[in-house]
Amino acid sequence: MTQVLTGHCHCGAIRVELAPGRPVAELPVRACQCGFCRRHGARTTSDPMSRLNIEAAPGSLNRYRFGRRAVDALLCEECGVYVASMLEADGALLATLNVAGVDLDGFEDRTAEPVTYDDESDEERLARRKARWTPAVLVETLPSA
Ligand SMILES: [Zn+2]
Repeated sequence: MTQVLTGHCHCGAIRVELAPGRPVAELPVRACQCGFCRRHGARTTSDPMSRLNIEAAPGSLNRYRFGRRAVDALLCEECGVYVASMLEADGALLATLNVAGVDLDGFEDRTAEPVTYDDESDEERLARRKARWTPAVLVETLPSA
């Protein structure tokens, strides 16, 4: 197991830890071309063999839904950074992480592959996310002293 990669939103209210299930260089980096991701300059990674922890300070989490409303985009209420998208499938949380938004360790020099998912049906979209997204835990923490 490689080292845990950390990052956080601009103000630090939302912190992430990604435990990679394979070498970091093998984790994909995607630039989704939808209107939301383009506006945020999102570059995302996900990997079913990895594990993602998201810790959000109380009140810092803004969940935004758009399009087919199947997924929560997690934004920081304070600084506005787009952190991750998350859905619940079969009782488990799955996420794709915006490595640009949280300035994640190890992704500074990576080039993102542009991707579009416009032609997918709802079923195809869910199947892709189940196959590719990262099992995740979301915790709302207490304020630190
Ligand atoms: Zn923030």
